[in-house]
Amino acid sequence: MDLIEFVLARLDEDEAAARAAVDFDHGVTDWTDDGDPTDVHIARHDPAQVLRSVSATRRLLTLHPHITHRQDLERNPFPLSERDLQLSYLDKWYCTRCDVDDGILTRVGGACETVRAVGEAWATHSEYDEAWRIDAARDDE
Ligand SMILES: [Zn+2]
Repeated sequence: MDLIEFVLARLDEDEAAARAAVDFDHGVTDWTDDGDPTDVHIARHDPAQVLRSVSATRRLLTLHPHITHRQDLERNPFPLSERDLQLSYLDKWYCTRCDVDDGILTRVGGACETVRAVGEAWATHSEYDEAWRIDAARDDE
């Protein structure tokens, strides 16, 4: 899942940068501001806040697990013909939370809109693929 791998890599980078900026072992975790707008902004995005945001985003990703139809069949065996097992959609990703309604798969192919929205936070990153945008064409991953 390229987009999820991309997001997880950005979160790892954000976490590493936040941990490198402050000595958390000695309790220096909260930054304060003196009212200057730039300082206020910096204080609102201090390393402790970044770590909380990284943790929340990782949790959000776990709430939207993506698997392939083939992986789903391995977990929940369903008799398919050899021809059906050759279908290209079997190896496409889908979100088990967003793309399944009453047990029926509603969409196959690519990350759900929630994960796409999360990924847009790093849309200016050199490795970001414009096909991941919510308004980009679907079925592209
Ligand atoms: Zn989802």
